[in-house]
Amino acid sequence: MTYLFISDLHLSPEHPRLVRGFLALLEQYKNQNTQLYILGDWFNAWIGDDYTAPWLDEIIHALKDFSAAGNHIYFQVGNRDFALGQKFLDKFNGQLLQDIDDLSLGKYTIRLEHGDLLCTDDVSYQKFRKIIRNPLLLGFLKSLPLGIRQKIANGFRKKSAETKQVKSYDIMDVNHTAVEAALNNADILIHGHTHRPDIHQIQDKKRIVLGDWREHEAQILEIQLNQNIHSLKLKKWCY
Ligand code: MN
Repeated sequence: MTYLFISDLHLSPEHPRLVRGFLALLEQYKNQNTQLYILGDWFNAWIGDDYTAPWLDEIIHALKDFSAAGNHIYFQVGNRDFALGQKFLDKFNGQLLQDIDDLSLGKYTIRLEHGDLLCTDDVSYQKFRKIIRNPLLLGFLKSLPLGIRQKIANGFRKKSAETKQVKSYDIMDVNHTAVEAALNNADILIHGHTHRPDIHQIQDKKRIVLGDWREHEAQILEIQLNQNIHSLKLKKWCY
């Protein structure tokens, strides 16, 4: 059995190469009894599970095939696609995970999260997150007509791009105290979000940062059942 971890694909109709890279990944792992974990920011934006488009239909079709071949798809929301829910995942038998979830793999406990909650130095983002993720507000937003949701999403994206330019590189990385707390009850922490793919040793534990999908390649993680923690390496996926 293969456990495959990816995040920060930022799929959108504007970047067909990334979509092709994802479809190729599904094809590659289709016959490997794969447990696919997508740890957020799968899509560049998500305005609701009722959104449909031809480029997305192609992805759904491939996910259905992937599922039907005996593989499993698990998804955790990111800061861009937090409105993606079980309703969309039901289309191909996928499963929504909690924002922070544990996975037992052999003798190891693995903690999975997107990674934005670890960036506690970014106080303004954490405030914004608390508001936007409030179930009442999110429920209200989801009840708006699709066209209005599209406009709101475009506005958010513009604002986020503007603030990113003035924020320092450091406050957008994880906070070490937050990481230590996250590793309290786990041997391995796997997350994305920071776009700084790497494997960090923290005493006898590991923090594995998945890569964002760039123009031609992405750093992903593959773990085989019973693999030793010390032999874990990021893998380059080229497309
Ligand atoms: Mn993110």
